[in-house]
Amino acid sequence: MKTIDNYNFKNKKALVRVDFNVPLDNDFKIIDDTRIRAAIPTLKKILNDGGSVIIMSHFGRPKNLPELKFSLIHAVPLVSQLLGRPVQFAKDCIGAATRNMAANLKPGEVLLLENVRFHAEETKGSESFAKELASLGDVFVNDAFGAAHRAHASTTTIAKFFPHDKMFGYLMAHELESIEKLLKLYKKPFTAILGGAKVSGKIAIIANLMDRIDNLIIGGGMAYTFVKAMGGNVGSSLVEEDRIQTAVQIIEDAEKKGVKIFIPTDTLVADAFSNDAARKVCDIKNIPEGWLGLDIGPATEKEFAAVIETSATILWNGPMGVFEMSNFEHGTRAVADAVVNATKSGAYSLIGGGDSVAAINKYKLTDQVSCVSTGGGAMLEGLEGQVLPGVRAVDESVEKIIR
Ligand code: AMP
Repeated sequence: MKTIDNYNFKNKKALVRVDFNVPLDNDFKIIDDTRIRAAIPTLKKILNDGGSVIIMSHFGRPKNLPELKFSLIHAVPLVSQLLGRPVQFAKDCIGAATRNMAANLKPGEVLLLENVRFHAEETKGSESFAKELASLGDVFVNDAFGAAHRAHASTTTIAKFFPHDKMFGYLMAHELESIEKLLKLYKKPFTAILGGAKVSGKIAIIANLMDRIDNLIIGGGMAYTFVKAMGGNVGSSLVEEDRIQTAVQIIEDAEKKGVKIFIPTDTLVADAFSNDAARKVCDIKNIPEGWLGLDIGPATEKEFAAVIETSATILWNGPMGVFEMSNFEHGTRAVADAVVNATKSGAYSLIGGGDSVAAINKYKLTDQVSCVSTGGGAMLEGLEGQVLPGVRAVDESVEKIIR
């Protein structure tokens, strides 16, 4: 893999694509700075080598026009604090004034460009726009894993203007290595834990993992479609009627391939979709009419934990219940604890995509698992075995790792 480790940035202007797409509150304060912190080691390596840094990123989904709530100016104080030096800000990512700022950048200096998505050309992957961005730096570093599944100008097209001087930053390398650990270097027993709202979003990932995994744990809203497919009564729980046949196929496929499939046996049901609703534990195949399953039950928690704690490789994608509500988060917390225990015993654990990342952060267990992905959609597509355009553009050989 071409990474920044094998490159000396002395006197070079490094154009670094990062993913600073962080949530803001109404006062433009950053609510969760994980993605910005994750890019800092790459920026520091370049600066410590004696290079300068030009940072580019997208931010939100503006309608191709500047808007204050989508301005990267809100990231300046934090980036400056984390790097321990001033950060210059270019009010546009292209144009004469920006070219001038980039040209005058000295070793050790940092320039943050305004949101690349203020130009429609970005998401179109425009060559001329990418060329303008490319003209600002001597070397291109892609550290934006969260945008790696987008064939946009600053993530993908731009790489062609650096035929030799293009490479991955540390965050990107770390995330790609975690995909490699799951799809190529996995140790058995390998357990995939899938939850979240719907079966439909998880079909491709199940298909790509079926030949690799030993155990498939199904929780969250998607479990009720499986229970119904097996003839159970799920009351008013979330069910995707048009995916019942898919669930049957997944169960049959797992049987054929010797994959053990674990579907909840008991569930915590509520009489309304509300934290204050009446609730009780019941058999998941016999949910009374008018009640809906919002979490896995205590027996299921134990069954799932036993499987997880004896696994050597673990992927977790999607919560076990409506964990945003405190009365229905117990199952998700139990799975999080089991993943942490397995990791302590030497398992490799990746929390990738979906709201399980939010859950592991909520429980402050981020440092106790092997990798928490910063790229929701990108991680999902990587694990589905899809081409990641931002990765291919920098290093085609990496595809052999992840496919
Ligand atoms: P995903 O983005 O697919 O990981 O889905 C995450 C969402 O699924 C979260 O917002 C959860 O609240 C929701 N979810 C989990 N379990 C259930 C359930 N039993 N019924 C309805 N929604 C659920």
